[in-house]
Amino acid sequence: MSTDKKCILIAESSSELQKKLRDTAIYHFEFASDGKTCLEKIQNVHPDLLIIDLLLPKIHGIEILKNLKKAPHRQKIGIIIMTGQPLIQNYYTAVDDQADYVLEKPFQTPFLLTLIEQFFLGLLKPASFKPIEKPAHPYNPQPENLNTYLKFWGTRGSNPVSGHEYVRFGGNTPCLEIRAEEDLVIIDAGTGIRALGEAYQDFPQTINLLFSHTHWDHILAFPFFKPIYNSHHEIIIWTPVNFEKKAEAIFNEMLSYAYFPVRLKDIPAKVSFKDLNEGETLSFGKIKLTTHYAYHPGSTLCFKISIANKTIGYATDNEFLIGYQGDPAHLNEQDSLLEDYRSQIHFFKGCDTLIHEAQYTPLDYQNKSGWGHSSISNATLLIKYAQIKEWIVTHHDPQHTDEDLLKKLLLHQQILKDCQVNTTCTLAFDKQVYYI
Ligand SMILES: [Zn+2]
Ligand SMILES: [Zn+2]
Repeated sequence: MSTDKKCILIAESSSELQKKLRDTAIYHFEFASDGKTCLEKIQNVHPDLLIIDLLLPKIHGIEILKNLKKAPHRQKIGIIIMTGQPLIQNYYTAVDDQADYVLEKPFQTPFLLTLIEQFFLGLLKPASFKPIEKPAHPYNPQPENLNTYLKFWGTRGSNPVSGHEYVRFGGNTPCLEIRAEEDLVIIDAGTGIRALGEAYQDFPQTINLLFSHTHWDHILAFPFFKPIYNSHHEIIIWTPVNFEKKAEAIFNEMLSYAYFPVRLKDIPAKVSFKDLNEGETLSFGKIKLTTHYAYHPGSTLCFKISIANKTIGYATDNEFLIGYQGDPAHLNEQDSLLEDYRSQIHFFKGCDTLIHEAQYTPLDYQNKSGWGHSSISNATLLIKYAQIKEWIVTHHDPQHTDEDLLKKLLLHQQILKDCQVNTTCTLAFDKQVYYI
C-alpha cells in the first residue's frame, strides 16, 4: 500500500462491504470479521478511519470505541458505528463515547463514501437520532370468530376450593358458557356461574341452563346467578330425568328458607323446568347439543356440542371402565371389558376435542374406584378408542393443588405415550376461553 493513501478498516461479520468497496487513488481498505481481528489490525495497519458493526462478533463495537478513545495515541482515529438496530440507547452511548457517526443499516455504498469523504475533510458530525418510523399501514391482523367460544367458569370437581395453592387452575365448581355470537347455552351452575352472571350486562332474554346432573358441585351457585333476579329473563332449566326426585322438587328444596333467603317461587325471573333425555339433540340457534349417558351415580349425562363446524365432547363426571386398575396398554379395542362402553366411545368418536375429566391418578383410583370419576389411565382409553386429537382435562380433584396438577399433567403425557396415543393434553382452568 502506498503511504499517502488513507487507510480505512472495516470490521463486520459479513463480507457485504468487502464485496462493494475497492481501493481508490485516495483510499485503501482493510477488513476484519470479528473484534479480535479488528484490534490486531488496528495495531498493524494503523487505520485513519474505522467503520465497525455495533454487534461485532467476540468484542462489541462500543467496547472497541471506548478502548480507542481511551488510548491517547489513537484518539485521532475516526470511528463510524454501523447498526441495524436504531435504538436510542445505542445511538447515545456511541455518540457520548465520541463516535464520529452512527450509520443506520441498510445503507447505499455511495452514502458511506460521502461520509468517508466528509470525515477526511473534517466535516463529519453525528446526525441527530432518527426514531423508528411508524409505517402508514402497519400489519395488524384481527382474529376471526372472537364471538364464538367456550368459557370455563369452573373446572374444579366435587367441592370448591380456594387458597394460594389453587390460583393457577382455580377453585370454582363446573360451569361452562357456550357462545355462538348472540346465542348462549350454559352447562351446570357450580360456583363458577356466580362470576358468569356478573360478567355481562346483557344476557339473552331466554337463558337455557342445562345440567349434567344435580350433584351439589353442579347446582351449588344457582341462587347466586344474577339474571335470576331480573324479571325480564326467562330461565329454562334442563335436567336429566332423575329417578329419585324431580328437578323442580330439588330446586324448590334448595331454595327454601332453611337454606336460602329467597324461595324458588319468589325468584323474579320466570323459571321453568324441562327434561333432558338421553340421545336427544337440542338446537339453540347456532349451538347444537346431543346427550349421552355418563357413568356416574344417579342420572347423569355428557354432551356433544356442535358449534361453528366443530364438535366438542364435554363430560365432567364420567367413570370410564369402572373398577379397572390394570395397565391400559394391555387392553385392546376388542376386549370384553369395553363392551358396555362402546356406545359412549361411538358417541364421542369424530369429536375435534374432548373435554373430559380424569379426576384420579391410578394411585388415587386404588381407593376411589366406584366413586363416579375416571382414573387418568382409564380415561386415556376413551381418548384412544374415540380417536380424539385434543383432550382438555377438567373437573380437577379438590385435593390436587396447582403443583399436583402440573405433575399430574406429566403423568397424563406419560400414560398417553405408554398407550401409543398421539393426543395433545392440557388442563382446563377457571375463566379459560376456548375460541372455536
Ligand atoms: Zn361433579
Ligand atoms: Zn357428580
